[in-house]
Amino acid sequence: MSTVLALDIGGTKIAVGIVDAEGTVLQRFQLPTPRDSAEAAWRVTADLIGQARSVGPVRAVGIASAGPVALHAGTISPVNIAVWRDFPIVARVAELTGLPVRLGGDGLCMALGEHWRGAGRGAQFLLGMVVSTGIGGGLVLDGVPYDGRTGNAGHVGHMVADADGEPCVCGGHGCVETLASGPRMTRWAQQQGWTGADAKDLAASATAGDAVALAAFRRGTRALAAVIASTAAVCDLDLVVIGGGVANAGDVLFGPLREALTRHTGLSFIRDLRVVPADLGGDAGLVGAAALVR
Ligand code: ADP
Ligand code: ZN
Repeated sequence: MSTVLALDIGGTKIAVGIVDAEGTVLQRFQLPTPRDSAEAAWRVTADLIGQARSVGPVRAVGIASAGPVALHAGTISPVNIAVWRDFPIVARVAELTGLPVRLGGDGLCMALGEHWRGAGRGAQFLLGMVVSTGIGGGLVLDGVPYDGRTGNAGHVGHMVADADGEPCVCGGHGCVETLASGPRMTRWAQQQGWTGADAKDLAASATAGDAVALAAFRRGTRALAAVIASTAAVCDLDLVVIGGGVANAGDVLFGPLREALTRHTGLSFIRDLRVVPADLGGDAGLVGAAALVR
């Protein structure tokens, strides 16, 4: 028996998947993340695990969680799940299932999933980025997930792209998330007189040639390119995989991003850096969580 359980814990939904040894998600169960109490959120998690376990035996459990995580304590304090602060997810899941459990940040798991089964196959030094409501990410270095000291390495959304920039939810200033997330690019365009509602509309406007929408993507992708090139220079990367809702914009995002990158990738060892769209969509977290217990 080589199937495992994978959990993907996010601010919007909690998903549990059954994943086989090849990294295929065989079945998936998910529910909205409860906001009322820590125990309500746990009950939903436990119910989903129960549903998945009733399908058949599994060997271990991998957990991808929104951050921050505290890897050594086995606890999570997701920014977008206010009811869970230092929540002992690893101990709870271990107690419930009697199985070995491993925890990782969701950005790390996305990178790991893409490295195993997605657009990152074959890459040895990989940055995975999720550009959505916020910006997250994770690193796979020399083929191995890089946790960092506390399990939070790879938080690329909070790399600084403009030291004098606007305040960020993290308490800092000018993080790339304040310049290039879906809602922030949208807000900037609205301030310039564009009248759409969200980043999906913005992508459609840019595709149709709207000057403000194109400028919004140019501005966002210049910030993204700066942090991508910086990370590549520090970590000697060969590949960047970008997923998340905003990556669905396709060429409207990747075109100006690749162009902006040429302004920063002068060093010989990052000149050939490849930047590609993610492959696994919403399954990347589950596949990466399964990879933690591979
Ligand atoms: P979450 O942030 O909850 O993980 P998503 O990854 O779906 O959710 O990201 C949501 C963001 O992606 C929103 O800002 C949304 O407008 C944007 N988005 C969704 N589809 C597209 C698209 N085709 N082009 C550009 N942005 C998109
Ligand atoms: Zn920040």
